[in-house]
Amino acid sequence: MKCIWMTTEGLPCDSDALSGKELCWFHDPEIEESRREARSRGGRASRASMKPAGIVFDVKSVEGILATLQGVGVALSDGRCDRSIANTFGILCKNAAETHKIVAFTKRLERVERRLGLNKNALDDTEDDDYDG
Ligand SMILES: [Zn+2]
Repeated sequence: MKCIWMTTEGLPCDSDALSGKELCWFHDPEIEESRREARSRGGRASRASMKPAGIVFDVKSVEGILATLQGVGVALSDGRCDRSIANTFGILCKNAAETHKIVAFTKRLERVERRLGLNKNALDDTEDDDYDG
């Protein structure tokens, strides 16, 4: 059953009424109190997230990333941070790990190119000079 509440223009609410009631969660005056509670819980949750969670953030090295993830896991299980903070740390660590991977790969590629005597200038400038036929 739909909520019987109407806008001042006479449009229906369109939300489902609470079971055994004629109004939905938004429009039932009895729900107002629990709604206020939910709002203040939300407020507490967002204030709580601004408290330091005691997690050391270090993504300067792969070891630092692992230590950060370890700290996030411990903080989460100790209740020092919530899932949204843990997820945010997770995303930052994932991005950092990805960047470390790209940097390491680029360095490795440069080493291989040096060892093979390859570089962009050699390919562009000296190909004809080396030809003795
Ligand atoms: Zn309604």
